[in-house]
Amino acid sequence: MSIVDRIARRERIYGGDINKAWRLELDDGSTVFMKTNSPEKAAYFEAESAGLEAMRATDTIGIPKVLEHGKTEDYSYLILEFLKPANRIKDYWETFGRELALMHKASGGAVWGKSPAMFGFPSDNFIGHTKQINTPSKSWVDFYRECRLVPQLKMADRYFDSSIRKKFSHLLDNLSDYLEEPESPALLHGDLWSGNMLCGPDGKAWILDPACYYGHPEVDLAMTQLFSQLPSAFYSAYNEVNPISPEYAERRDLYHLYQLLNHLNMFGSSYYGEVTAILDEYA
Ligand code: ADP
Repeated sequence: MSIVDRIARRERIYGGDINKAWRLELDDGSTVFMKTNSPEKAAYFEAESAGLEAMRATDTIGIPKVLEHGKTEDYSYLILEFLKPANRIKDYWETFGRELALMHKASGGAVWGKSPAMFGFPSDNFIGHTKQINTPSKSWVDFYRECRLVPQLKMADRYFDSSIRKKFSHLLDNLSDYLEEPESPALLHGDLWSGNMLCGPDGKAWILDPACYYGHPEVDLAMTQLFSQLPSAFYSAYNEVNPISPEYAERRDLYHLYQLLNHLNMFGSSYYGEVTAILDEYA
């Protein structure tokens, strides 16, 4: 029997920016978390659930367990283990940094079956409202160009004049001058801004709402530094487990570029200035 047929009581949780969120009490007295949207959004929850399961399989960091996803005539839904808030442990940020680094270092085998790990993911997913293409590739730089920058640039084309288009084309042609191939593909959360982190029942940081794929671990670090920064204890603990390259700072804005292009496409021209400022840095 589906969990949606066992709901005894439900209460709205506010704070998300895309879906409706609920705390559900089931017929056996247990509590679960549910997100809902219109029925045609079921693919979003299917993709979110695949990402959560891939991260959870690494057994390195707090990830809510997926209990069910699907749709009824009226809505699509994702049901997760309910994370009861607790007080933060003393070394909250160090532990978060260490556990994220362990997730990045975990073997990529799980989602790729017997084949060697690739960059990308076995299925496409979403970054916010936008489709995120995850076609597997052996090269990180090719993947970042073809599956990250190019699709966003095509969507944003109407914002650009010919001189900006020329600069983008130069940047794409010379991307390997700026980005490096990592030692191996790392499982990324893919959208690691502060709204997707939560203190879980164990007092540690849990991560939610992913846009997972295998890529360069610097992508997740860069996302933690797009609109603000996490405390320095997070980065030093991360660095002890998975050393951060001294050249990371030179690449960070290129990783921001993907997210900012997506913001330009989702929210409009207020992100144009940030996008072209990054373009000017590199092209
Ligand atoms: P959206 O997909 O709309 O961005 P979120 O995943 O951000 O939604 O969730 C909405 C709210 O529910 C947030 O305030 C978040 O902290 C909370 N939340 C998310 N997952 C859980 C969970 N498993 N247990 C309890 N609360 C959660």
